[in-house]
Amino acid sequence: MSDCLVVGGGIIGLSVAYELSKRGLSVTLVEQGEWGGQASSAAAGMLAPLKEFASMGPMLDLGMESLRLYPQWAQELEERAAGDVQLSLEGLVTVALNDAESEQLKAKFHWQKEAGHDVRWLDGKELREVEPLLSEQVVAGIHSPGEGHINNRLLLRSLVTACRIQGVQLLSGCVVSGIAVKAGRVIGVETTSGPIRAEHTIIASGAWAGIMMQMLDLAIPVRPVRGQIAAVSSVGIPLRTVIFGTSGYITPKKDGKIVIGATEDESGFQREVTLAGLASVLNGVMPYVPALHAAAFLEAWGGLRPATADGKPLLGPVPGWEGLSLAGGHFRNGILLSPITAKRMADYVESGRVDRLEAFLPSRFLP
Ligand SMILES: Cc1cc2nc3c(=O)[nH]c(=O)nc-3n(C[C@H](O)[C@H](O)[C@H](O)COP(=O)(O)OP(=O)(O)OC[C@H]3O[C@@H](n4cnc5c(N)ncnc54)[C@H](O)[C@@H]3O)c2cc1C
Repeated sequence: MSDCLVVGGGIIGLSVAYELSKRGLSVTLVEQGEWGGQASSAAAGMLAPLKEFASMGPMLDLGMESLRLYPQWAQELEERAAGDVQLSLEGLVTVALNDAESEQLKAKFHWQKEAGHDVRWLDGKELREVEPLLSEQVVAGIHSPGEGHINNRLLLRSLVTACRIQGVQLLSGCVVSGIAVKAGRVIGVETTSGPIRAEHTIIASGAWAGIMMQMLDLAIPVRPVRGQIAAVSSVGIPLRTVIFGTSGYITPKKDGKIVIGATEDESGFQREVTLAGLASVLNGVMPYVPALHAAAFLEAWGGLRPATADGKPLLGPVPGWEGLSLAGGHFRNGILLSPITAKRMADYVESGRVDRLEAFLPSRFLP
């Protein structure tokens, strides 16, 4: 019997398991497939709270706090696992192709600036000094020098190694088929490899968290939102910075790939790449960087973002079920939010206090 059982071996489950173990708790982590084999390896790895969140509030605060944790988090994992995670916090640009887009972006720039964030408003010429491959069509945009990206697949690999070194019991290829309850308290799970018992069970099963809650007749709204995404070769296309526009984003990675994304479409749990999806992703980014027309295509893939009904993650206890918590629903930002999720969930498990989780508690969806 472990102190903690974490269900789901994506970026969230791995990060939470690692943090709990560092704090001296015994931890078992269960994954039905391969470590990080779902949304977490499908992601583009961008760390971009100022781009992602449309207004001030708890999501932006959470995202900014997580971004601040990243350099130390990445360094620690690199040291523990002896592997580079290719963190790059060298800035990104969000660009407008016309006056209407420019007005919208400018409004965002103003509140971000007033709130003290590190952002600059640049015209097209100034943006092309930051990123010479930007199209002449770009008229203006926001430069955010402190945001960036990471190689999420390397990060996942490092987390698995770090968990192993830390002593987390890692069970992959093990499907959770039921939640075990005794006298109104969750005591673990039933799996295809037999029962697993723990004092505290944390569901971190991504897009499947809603299904898992149904095992207790709880209607917590988590649904899969497919992202179709592609990679091209950076040979001959020496991009310097991440570029966002209304119809797509372009992320030059350190491994010689340029990752281009992504659709947001709902097809249940299907994660195939469709021709329509691929066409919209590729056509979406050409107006920003015309040089991409000549890029060599490498691969395309799909993943299922775990989306909640209000767009905010689910962090903390499941009311009415002692011993059970959720860590999920991170939608487009699970890579960004992994270090802060691990920290806040471990704080909660250690102290039983939920005051720093208030905006994200699962209770908001339950009567
Ligand atoms: C195309 C795309 C691009 C993205 N880009 C970014 C980005 O740039 N930046 C960013 O921050 N985020 C990005 N995201 C979002 C990010 O990938 C997700 O928010 C994050 O991966 C969610 O992590 P997770 O661990 O909750 O889910 P997952 O990675 O899906 O992990 C959940 C795990 O639970 C397991 N599981 C489910 N049911 C069971 C069961 N019954 N028994 C055992 N195991 C089970 C699954 O097999 C899975 O491995 C992107 C997502 C997509 C799809």
